[in-house]
Amino acid sequence: MATESTQSKWLAAEKKYDSGIYSKHDVVMVRGLGATVWDENGRSYVDCVAGYGVANIGHSHPDVVKAIKDQADRLIVMPQTLPNDKRAEFLQELVGVLPQGLDRVFLCNSGTEAMEAAKKFAITATGRTHFVSMKRGFSGRTLGALALTWEPKYREPFGDAVDNKNVDFVTYGNLEELRAAVTDQTAAVILEPVQGEGGVRPASAEFIQEARRLTRETGALLILDEIQTGFCRTGKMFACEHFGVIPDAMTLAKAMAGGMPIGALAMTAEVADRMPAGGHGTTFGGNPLAMAAGVAALRAMKREGMAEQAREKGAYFMERLRAIQSPKIREVRGLGLMIGVELKEKSAPYIHALEHDEGVLTLAATPLVVRFLPPVTISREQIDQVVTAFERVLNTVNPREERQAELAAQQPLTKQTKEAKLDEEMGQAEVSEGEAIQTE
Ligand SMILES: *Cc1c(COP(=O)(O)O)cnc(C)c1O
Repeated sequence: MATESTQSKWLAAEKKYDSGIYSKHDVVMVRGLGATVWDENGRSYVDCVAGYGVANIGHSHPDVVKAIKDQADRLIVMPQTLPNDKRAEFLQELVGVLPQGLDRVFLCNSGTEAMEAAKKFAITATGRTHFVSMKRGFSGRTLGALALTWEPKYREPFGDAVDNKNVDFVTYGNLEELRAAVTDQTAAVILEPVQGEGGVRPASAEFIQEARRLTRETGALLILDEIQTGFCRTGKMFACEHFGVIPDAMTLAKAMAGGMPIGALAMTAEVADRMPAGGHGTTFGGNPLAMAAGVAALRAMKREGMAEQAREKGAYFMERLRAIQSPKIREVRGLGLMIGVELKEKSAPYIHALEHDEGVLTLAATPLVVRFLPPVTISREQIDQVVTAFERVLNTVNPREERQAELAAQQPLTKQTKEAKLDEEMGQAEVSEGEAIQTE
């Protein structure tokens, strides 16, 4: 147990020296195991954030821990021009679980790097530079990935440094818009099988299948962003398996190495072979430490039937959430253990209360959605605990009433103005299609 003074020490230091881009919570997390994490005071939390959908096989999975320790003793860094036993083993394992035909892999260190690679490989594979991306989609934060992001507030601070004049945005699920956007100038259609940051929205099979058909017809690539949906999250190893669609390339990251930073672009030989030698590269990509963790993580997913577990537990979780009687809930949706509850008002006060009062970590996805991305190893008892806690905060937290009391004290506002102000602040005003996405 940490003393009061060490607590304020770490929290204060992190807040003082960080770049300032994150809105930091008032806790210091120090340990994790399975679906539980602990703060420095020894308080435990059920973790439905899981490092933003990274800890699918649970925090500090014993096989991953052992693999990292063993590999750290042997070799930590080795560039990709020098072949390495762990890298070869990882590539073999990964290609073994990937859809048929995706048997060439570019290794990197994060999701956004995988998206950058996807763009470059798509350009060299097709000789084209036009991309079709999705409204409400999220592709990462580097300038190239940002150009695929529709939400203006992510892009606007950087002006015309984000060059998206060659990107067309389509309403997710709208077949007509998709047909109009894809031409014989299109290098690739890029989409998430379930939109994550955009509010946890599963695609229809029809939409993904039409994207597959159109890209074949026009000679464009279909690139699926499975960074959040991959590795058992949705109840299959990859979400595309739900739709019977195999893309030309797939971006991967998050859960692929059990918590170690990693990213990859998996693609067909046709795509890989058009990139000139030396046309892309990275120093840390494919490093033996991440590779060893990745081998252990992929084996654990298969051995422990994690996809099956996510399917069953996800169905149970959603059934329990749907049984909650609350006028504040608009919709419960998701696939496997990628679950979103859309509220009729802003989700932030409920997310805060879940963490603070109930010891349950969740995250937003658009300002109205509470998102649950627990480790697949979460127990039924923990799911029950989360649902009970969520029901309780929905019943007890009343941000509108609290704010109303504050506004009542402010004399100059008319009643009508106060109501309108409340609607806006609580997110109860009409939600536009361009509803801001950013969460944390
Ligand atoms: C997290 C995420 C990314 C970006 O990955 P980083 O590792 O944060 O760069 C891109 N696409 C999707 C769908 C994601 O969920």
